[in-house]
Amino acid sequence: MPRIIMHIDFNSYFASVEQQANPHLRGKAIAVAGKAGGDIHRSVVTTASREAKARGVKTAMATWEAKKICPELIIIPGDPQKYSEITERFLTVCHKYADAVEQFSTDEVFIDVTSGAGNYFGASILALMIRRDLKAACGSVCTVSIGIAPNKLVAKLASESVKPNGLTVVRPADVEDFVKSRPLADFCGIGRSTEKKLAELGVTSVATLRQLPRTQLINLFKSQGSWLADASHGLATDVLENDNEAPKSIGHSYTFPHDLHTIPEVKKNLLAMCDRVAWRLRGQHLVASRVSVYVRYGDFGSDGCAKLLHIPINDGLTISQNAWALLSPRLNLHRGVRLIGISVSDLKATKPPTSLFRKDRRMSRVVHALDVVQTKFGQNSWHRASTVSTKFLERTSGWHYDHLAMANKT
Ligand SMILES: [Mg+2]
Repeated sequence: MPRIIMHIDFNSYFASVEQQANPHLRGKAIAVAGKAGGDIHRSVVTTASREAKARGVKTAMATWEAKKICPELIIIPGDPQKYSEITERFLTVCHKYADAVEQFSTDEVFIDVTSGAGNYFGASILALMIRRDLKAACGSVCTVSIGIAPNKLVAKLASESVKPNGLTVVRPADVEDFVKSRPLADFCGIGRSTEKKLAELGVTSVATLRQLPRTQLINLFKSQGSWLADASHGLATDVLENDNEAPKSIGHSYTFPHDLHTIPEVKKNLLAMCDRVAWRLRGQHLVASRVSVYVRYGDFGSDGCAKLLHIPINDGLTISQNAWALLSPRLNLHRGVRLIGISVSDLKATKPPTSLFRKDRRMSRVVHALDVVQTKFGQNSWHRASTVSTKFLERTSGWHYDHLAMANKT
C-alpha cells in the first residue's frame, strides 16, 4: 500500500520559543547563541528569528558578524531545558495523530499518516488539526512548515519549499515535476561534498542529474549513486524509524513566582508536580523504576540526584515520597528554591505488582477511580487535601501552558 508521509518542521525553532516565552522579543530581530553563563559574544548563531533572517543573519554566523550586519540584533543565550519541554509537547501532539512517529531532530518529525488519513485530502485535514493542536500546546509564535508526500525524501523537500508556516502537498502524480523544481542542496542526503562532486560533472540541478545514466552514477558514487538516480525522480524506499514506543522519561519542572523557603511549601508543590507526572505515566500505561529530582536556587546554583527503585511505581504520592527522600538531606532552604524539576525514567509498560497489603490494594483502586474522574472532568476535578491550597492557574497560551502557575492561598 502506498504510504502517506508527513514532515513537520518548526520555523526558526529556538528563536520562536524564546519569542513565545517573552512577548518583548516578538517582532524583533533576535538570535539564540551560546548558553547561559558563557560569553555569547564569542559564540555562533544557533537560530535566528525570522526578523533577523530578513536582515541577513544566518545560522552558524559568528555573533560579532551578525551584530555588524544587524546592529539591533538581540542575542539570547540558549536554554536547552525550555526547548526540550516544547519538543516533548510537539511529540505528544504528533503521537496523537499517527501510528508511527520518527523524531528526526529537535524540531522535526516524520509521521506516517497512511491509515489515519486514508488519502491526501484526509492528510491535509490532519495537518490542519496538528497545526491547531501545536498552537495550543506551544503557542502561536511557534509555527511549523508541513510537507505531505509518498516518502520521507519528498515530504522533507515539500516542507522546506514553503517557509514559514507552509503546507505543501505533493501527490504521487506530482512528484516528478515537484522534485524537478527543487535545488539539489535541499535534498536530505546530498551534502556539500556530493554537491561539489556533482557540480564538477556539470550537474547543478535535478534536470541535469536525471540525464546521467544510473551506471555512471554508481561508478562515481558507489552505493549513493543508485540513491541519487532514484532521488532525482523523487523515489525513495526510506523507512520511517518508528519511535512510537514508550518515552524514555516523563518529567515536569516549574519555576516558582517567588522563591520557596519552607519545607511545607516545597513538599506541597513537589507532591502536586508528582501527581501530574504520575497522571501522565498512568495515561500511557507505564510504570517507572527511577526517580530524579532537580532544584535550582535563587542564586542560580543547582543540585539534583536520582535513585533506582526496587518496585516500579506509578502513583504521585509514592513518587513524591521518593523524591522528598532524595531531596531533603541536601536541600538548602536559605538559598530559596526557585525551580523544582521531577522526572521518572526506566519506564516499562507493565502493571505495578499487586501489593500483599490490603491498604496498598485499596489505594491503587482509589487512584484508578480518580483517573476515571480526571479523564471525564479534567485536570482540576480532584485535589489531595494536602495540596488543596495550591491553586493551579492554567494559562491558555504561551509555552507556560500547563506549567503550574501557583498562587499559594493561605
Ligand atoms: Mg526547523
